[in-house]
Amino acid sequence: MNTPIYRGSTVLFPTMDDLLNRRAKYTYGTRGTPTTEALETAWTELSGAAGTVLSPSGLGAISLALLSVVEAGDHVLVTDNVYWPTRAFCGGMLAKLGVETSYFDPMIGASVSELIRPNTKVLFLESPGSLTFEVQDVPAMAAIAEEKGAVTIIDNTWATPLLFPPHARGADIAIEAGTKYLSGSSDLLMGLVSANAEYFPRLRETYDLFSNCPGPEDVFLCLRGMRSMSLRLREAESQGLAMAHWLAARPEVRRVLHPALPENPGHEIWKRDFAGASGLFGVELQPVSREALAAMLDGLRLFGMGFSWAGFESLVIPCEPNKLRTATTFAHEGPILRFSIGLEDVADLQEDLDAGFARLRAAG
Ligand SMILES: *Cc1c(COP(=O)(O)O)cnc(C)c1O
Repeated sequence: MNTPIYRGSTVLFPTMDDLLNRRAKYTYGTRGTPTTEALETAWTELSGAAGTVLSPSGLGAISLALLSVVEAGDHVLVTDNVYWPTRAFCGGMLAKLGVETSYFDPMIGASVSELIRPNTKVLFLESPGSLTFEVQDVPAMAAIAEEKGAVTIIDNTWATPLLFPPHARGADIAIEAGTKYLSGSSDLLMGLVSANAEYFPRLRETYDLFSNCPGPEDVFLCLRGMRSMSLRLREAESQGLAMAHWLAARPEVRRVLHPALPENPGHEIWKRDFAGASGLFGVELQPVSREALAAMLDGLRLFGMGFSWAGFESLVIPCEPNKLRTATTFAHEGPILRFSIGLEDVADLQEDLDAGFARLRAAG
């Protein structure tokens, strides 16, 4: 039933003439195999795109998407709550190539129009944004970019195309870290970039120039993950919401940063544009000492501490979103935690955090 794993590299041609004219559907490992094509085709359909290319990681997908459209002299506008390595790529690589980046308030909405310069090539969105979860008015912003001749690229990893169809909402190019919900198991890395008909040809061409192709086992595992992604997302939403509401009622918590909660910036937009929530959200605690926070986190039994998210096991990380911003400030008094809720029993997760809060209080 599933497409088997076709490995690179060599495809044999029956005759010299066939080889010289590349007369074959598959010509070489980097140019695609039935396995990679199956994932690309399925993702294209799921995303409502014209085509998809793969990358060995989500960050690889981001750099590929940007490099497919920018050239020296261009300007790129990026949301200030962007996934931090995207910012690092813009500052560390695009700058070297003569492309300037500036950042904007994620809640700016249609006023982004005033920031678009004659040489602005890209409007880069991420909604909800990394660590702080503000929801952007993607349709309004994408319409403005289009009118001004800029490409809208969105990092759609939080929602996946199942909860936010990126191209139907106006994005020209959409990125997914397949490392997250497509895998769902924290055991592989994958990036996918889908594009509409206008931008897919240059995306494919850029992919071919780099030939940065993912390994066939990981592609196969993503195809398998796709079959259960909607089920896992539904569970992530209900588990995540149960935890978010429980946390919101705790005296140790100042506020919960979750797009489905009415007080979250952009909540009304989330209700209008999204089909649901995934299992990743943030929490601001009441101010506590670093030692007390460490006492809480170091002793957790079920929550792991580590990067990435969307696996079957719950994770938590402390983060400092303010330190990553340049255009805005993110006001908070207590520490910010980011939770990825997995598939464990919610009562067990609450018990683990309840014991963690007891350690936090005991440590002062
Ligand atoms: C994790 C993540 C990425 C990058 O994915 P990797 O496969 O880890 O490189 C990109 N964007 C967002 C929003 C992410 O959370």
